[in-house]
Amino acid sequence: MTIRFDNTYARDLQGMYLPWQGAKAPDPALVWLNDALAEELGLDPAALRGAEGVAMLAGSAMPEGAEPLAMAYAGHQFGGFSPQLGDGRALLVGEVIDRNGQRRDIHLKGSGKTPFSRGGDGKAALGPVLREVLIGEAMQGLGIPTTRALAAVTTGETVWRDGAALPGAVLARVAASHLRVGTFQFFYARQETARLRVLADYAIRRHYPELSGETDRYLGLLHAVIGRQMALVARWMGVGFVHGVMNTDNMTISGETIDYGPCAFMDAHDPATVFSSIDHQGRYAYGNQPLLARWNLARLGESLLPLMADDPSEALPDVRAAIDGAEALYAAERRAVFGAKLGVEGAEDALIDGFLDMLTAQGADFTQAFRHLAKAARGDEAELRALVPDPRLEAWLDAWRPRLRKEAAQVMERVNPVYIPRNDRVEAALAAGVGGDLGPIHRLLRAFADPFTRVDGFEDLEGPGTPDGYRTFCGT
Ligand code: AMP
Ligand code: MG
Repeated sequence: MTIRFDNTYARDLQGMYLPWQGAKAPDPALVWLNDALAEELGLDPAALRGAEGVAMLAGSAMPEGAEPLAMAYAGHQFGGFSPQLGDGRALLVGEVIDRNGQRRDIHLKGSGKTPFSRGGDGKAALGPVLREVLIGEAMQGLGIPTTRALAAVTTGETVWRDGAALPGAVLARVAASHLRVGTFQFFYARQETARLRVLADYAIRRHYPELSGETDRYLGLLHAVIGRQMALVARWMGVGFVHGVMNTDNMTISGETIDYGPCAFMDAHDPATVFSSIDHQGRYAYGNQPLLARWNLARLGESLLPLMADDPSEALPDVRAAIDGAEALYAAERRAVFGAKLGVEGAEDALIDGFLDMLTAQGADFTQAFRHLAKAARGDEAELRALVPDPRLEAWLDAWRPRLRKEAAQVMERVNPVYIPRNDRVEAALAAGVGGDLGPIHRLLRAFADPFTRVDGFEDLEGPGTPDGYRTFCGT
């Protein structure tokens, strides 16, 4: 198997990672391969299915040209700073240039202990690996920037979680890069300003090349990441996505969603929605995500300060202004996302919030409400009225109808999904998948590939279904 790697991270960022090898998997077996993504990357799916390919995907043996390494990073986890996290169970295999000329990382999660493991076993279990497959592909289908799963393999090993023996697995993940806010924090905390500069220039070359050579490029980098992250979080909000663990090590510089550990989609609209078992304070609740994204971006701004001026305090007003400005940027992104959902151009907050407030008051399903609204735009208001029996609905509809854009219903049906990963159906598919039956996962993947188009026979994939007390888990 030949893969044309071009490993800039290994080459340009020496001292910011540790060269490392994966653990030998006793009996690696391919469970799922993303053929379309493999082809997009210029990889041969047949070769990935072969012994050499599966060995690479399991982290057991690397093909020529791979320079596997564990990345160093730090991070604020639930507000508390950990100066050293890093790839504790992951490896960057290498980078390839895809069919569109984009550089992409091939990365493994669950490939064994590294010097960053901090007492963890370095492993992953099959259920959470398949969860990452499902949710990542769903985000892709929804048109939201995301890291994606290339493959899931079992290792033949047993992984222990809470006293239960689970099948060990490795996820092969593809990302525009694995640079995180926490990567910058690692070197900022160690006051390694020279390395910080090398890192920032690398990030600029890789993700924001238009800033290269600009004198104020580090402030430019901050603005650019703020722009992408505010757009990203607005898109999350538009589909009811709750990331669940928005620590600074889980926020990318590229603007892709990363780390589908404890994430889940909301059914009934409620800003306080939390699924993660460890998020006791609701820090990363659905409605808090824009604020917490800004908090993380402030940590990025802080980390870039030493690059902006010899006396960092001189750069502080610019960084403050950038972070303050993020609020208005988010508000504009949100208006664009929710305006499209409402079928209204230039929708103002009052119209958006008027609808959302009724959904909250009635405990109405977020996803269905917008699909019913699209139907209302075609003149059939019955389902909407049944779902949102709110005394304010009549007045709201009267204000909304004259605002509808041209071809509103078509636009609304292109942005308001029929299918999202419903928690009970995701859990059922994962349980089947772990038991060896991938049928339900393939079925969900088919629905998520084009979630805006209703498919005959998939009626059971619509509608709410979050079991009482539903909880998700990190680091599994
Ligand atoms: P996460 O919650 O997945 O974002 O991970 C946070 C940190 O914990 C990262 O440094 C991971 O590499 C590390 N980590 C999570 N699970 C494990 C594990 N089973 N073994 C070693 N490190 C882990
Ligand atoms: Mg993480």
